[in-house]
Amino acid sequence: MHADIQRVLISQWQINARVQELARQITTDLLRDQPNDPELTIIPIMTGAMIFASDLIRDIPIAMRIGLLTVSSYPGAAMTTQGSTVTTAQLPDLRGRHVLAVDDILDSGGTLRLVTPRLMALGAISVKTCVLLRKDRPQARATHADYVGFDIPDEFVVGYGLDYNNYYRNIPDIAILHPDAIERRKGG
Ligand code: 5GP
Ligand code: MG
Repeated sequence: MHADIQRVLISQWQINARVQELARQITTDLLRDQPNDPELTIIPIMTGAMIFASDLIRDIPIAMRIGLLTVSSYPGAAMTTQGSTVTTAQLPDLRGRHVLAVDDILDSGGTLRLVTPRLMALGAISVKTCVLLRKDRPQARATHADYVGFDIPDEFVVGYGLDYNNYYRNIPDIAILHPDAIERRKGG
């Protein structure tokens, strides 16, 4: 698998440090906004945000519920967005709740623009968004995210939950694939 990586963009050590900072910031903001009985409903956007969310939530020491949304935008071997659709939702009652949607990467912004109004429509009092990565492209910068881990160049990345054709999610770093690996994994 390591032979398939052309370049590590962000190491697992850098990720760990930044995830802790994000968790601290989120916790501070929650305690400021809800000083009496702070509570949060976290919604990781599957499958890419699975690993990021699992690390992030363990550093947020606040009463928390979890719901899941699966959004597909890069199906199969696609390397550019094909438009975002919600494929499954496993959500608790959001009426009167503070929600934090967590995604792996902000690219075209289609996912967050789809998910945020949908969660508000289910009765959430507030919906904030947190992404580990934001690509350096105009659509990404034009889409609001409350918490951003890293700004990265506009390149296709894998690892730490992000896939190519559902492979490479288990790489611990954020990395760029070798063109040979892209060719080889194209067929699944
Ligand atoms: P957006 O909806 O902002 O265009 O893109 C968000 C989703 O597209 C992400 O949650 C992720 O699933 C996918 N995506 C966008 N850029 C990349 C990338 O560079 N690598 C991978 N593996 N997925 C990406
Ligand atoms: Mg995704």
